[in-house]
Amino acid sequence: MRKLIVGNWKMNGMMHDLAEISAIASGAKQFTAVDTALCLPSTLIGRAVESVVDYNFGGQDCHANASGAHTGCISAAMLADIGAKTVIVGHSERREAQVESDADIRAKALAAHEAGLKVIICVGEIEAQRDAGQAEAVVIQQLAGSIPNIASPDWVSIAYEPVWAIGTGRIPAVDDVAQMHLAIRTYLIGRFGDAAIEFRILYGGSMNGDNALELLAIAHVDGGLIGGASLTAAKFLPILDAAQAIGA
Ligand code: PEP
Repeated sequence: MRKLIVGNWKMNGMMHDLAEISAIASGAKQFTAVDTALCLPSTLIGRAVESVVDYNFGGQDCHANASGAHTGCISAAMLADIGAKTVIVGHSERREAQVESDADIRAKALAAHEAGLKVIICVGEIEAQRDAGQAEAVVIQQLAGSIPNIASPDWVSIAYEPVWAIGTGRIPAVDDVAQMHLAIRTYLIGRFGDAAIEFRILYGGSMNGDNALELLAIAHVDGGLIGGASLTAAKFLPILDAAQAIGA
């Protein structure tokens, strides 16, 4: 399966960063065995699409409705309208700060699909849940509630992101990543049948150019969702290089 490496710029990026975005997108083209996307702040997506042709730009969230009285929100249709092809839903920063439920995330994923976007659905436990031995149960419950019944691998990917590993420089032990990704795969096959082998399950949480090769080599780790290390070409392209080396 081709690896999928997705950058998440979060609330970072000004107009003067378009040159960096362009460097990332043009640098990514050399990694022909890897699929890649950059999920930008909404303010930059349209300009990035205009200035860099033929790259997969995405949003970081969308509303579950297509339009209406939702001050400050952006619909999936709006993202598609400005040229986005992908959207992240259910990132832990939104689950926590915006108090998004699994049902909210499922509705957003459906709205995104309706708008023709590919969707990355994020799940992951907080540290106290891992310490209490509940990580797998928490993640399976999130998957059960967040993934729509009509999901299929051609438009849904899953990102497993242990919350305590996001932006902290800490990553789980290889065995723990392997165990969780296998549990996610087993869940997906149980729910969607053998075709679920094709869902891409990304790992996210402090992935960078130094640890990407080790993480991406783990069974059922089909890519990465990258925050801090996606902000520059110098940091992001080595992750694509690692993905290419494994996929080639
Ligand atoms: C993320 O926010 O999805 C993420 C993985 O961030 P970081 O790579 O900075 O840990």
